[in-house]
Amino acid sequence: MPPTYADADLAHARALRERGLADPAALRLLRELCTGIGARPAGSPADAQAQAWARAALGQLGLEGVRAEEFALRVWQRGPAAARLLAQDMSRPLTIAALGNSVATAAGGIDAEVAWYPDLAALRADTTEPGRSRAHGRIVFIDQRTERTRDGRGYGAAVGARINGPVEAARRGALALAIRSIGTSGTSGIDGIGGSGATASATTGAAAAAPVAHTGATRYDLSVPRIPAFAVSVRDAELIAAQQAAGRPLRLQFTLEARSGVDARSANVIAEWRGTDLAHEVVLIGAHLDSWDVGQGAQDNGAGVAIVSAAAGVIAAAGRRARRTIRVVLFGNEENGFDGALDYGNRHKDEPHQLVAESDFGAGRLYAFTSRVASAALPLAAQVAQVLAPLGLAHPEGGRNAGSPGPDAALLMRRHRWPALALAQDGSRYFDVHHTADDTLERLDAGALPQNVAAWAAMAWLAAQAPVSFGPPAL
Ligand SMILES: [Zn+2]
Repeated sequence: MPPTYADADLAHARALRERGLADPAALRLLRELCTGIGARPAGSPADAQAQAWARAALGQLGLEGVRAEEFALRVWQRGPAAARLLAQDMSRPLTIAALGNSVATAAGGIDAEVAWYPDLAALRADTTEPGRSRAHGRIVFIDQRTERTRDGRGYGAAVGARINGPVEAARRGALALAIRSIGTSGTSGIDGIGGSGATASATTGAAAAAPVAHTGATRYDLSVPRIPAFAVSVRDAELIAAQQAAGRPLRLQFTLEARSGVDARSANVIAEWRGTDLAHEVVLIGAHLDSWDVGQGAQDNGAGVAIVSAAAGVIAAAGRRARRTIRVVLFGNEENGFDGALDYGNRHKDEPHQLVAESDFGAGRLYAFTSRVASAALPLAAQVAQVLAPLGLAHPEGGRNAGSPGPDAALLMRRHRWPALALAQDGSRYFDVHHTADDTLERLDAGALPQNVAAWAAMAWLAAQAPVSFGPPAL
């Protein structure tokens, strides 16, 4: 006999779903976090303020065991940066953002010719023989484009240019790295994907908005010099590409200030709805509290913080306990090092986890539910899918069972072999504002927040009430 939920448990999950759809807390929480605190890079005073806010908010939602688990970390801090493009008779300033972890330029900055590459693969195809690469003694420009997709595939395919660009450029003797922003800001994006009418009309505003550059973490390795690295706006990348196509020699002049390795403290903020006979087992629903230092961290990841917190609040307000403990974890420093996820794993590695799941893809509408559980638990996942189906969530994977639960949760799933469930959000517009000054409440479509809260509440409660363990997953 495959494991099944009792009818009363399924009925309670459906009731939580309906309560979630009517619950107003998520938008209130998001507004408090975005406009009351705003950008909250890990280890900053705003990060500490966000932790204090989160503790109070989670307590007010009726959750228990509210606490911050602190950890030490080293952070990167942005300073001023400016760049100018020089081509033939043209000289114009560019909209740029230093990549996270970038070293500063020496005093006076860098002024050099551009070696332009259409994408990271083209740079990798260039020789690494000393002095023979086009990159040698120049500023490498990688024109990697980010394709607009619903599930974030386009970002996944492009982000290597940001993460690995500095090492690949330095390996070929480059002085610095510049990239087209990894993001879809300033692109029309009406084609190809089925956005709602509401988001399509928002596009008109987006296209008219001022250009922005998308930051995000990059990395170095010890084998090559650490060179400064920055992203330029999509519009400026188009201009550079046009000049390049016209065969004009291009120069870039830029200065960039930054500090690396600054000692700081951050924390994961935790709150629980305690279980009954299996209270020592944990259903983790998470998001990350930190953001980049630009914008308000509204979609990345204020939305996720608001969704999972409100969902836990809905569960607590309904009053019925599940067998296992439901634990909200608001991770610290997802953006630049995963210190929070690593610290959580170290502290809690001996506690059995029934589930890890994270909301970290903005405020878009959910369209699918997927799992990464032991095959014996698949009949239960199918029952969860039935409860979620009226919200418009497909359960498309059949027997694939290969869901990915969000960045911090995926790290924990892999390191600790904890099972996962994933709720897939429409990210068609997410990369218009991701890691930019435009990631504000104003630019966020809050219409799907209740649907998200409803699904998270029902899913978390059913995971906590399951008759059998969901793990270990097949990885
Ligand atoms: Zn995020």
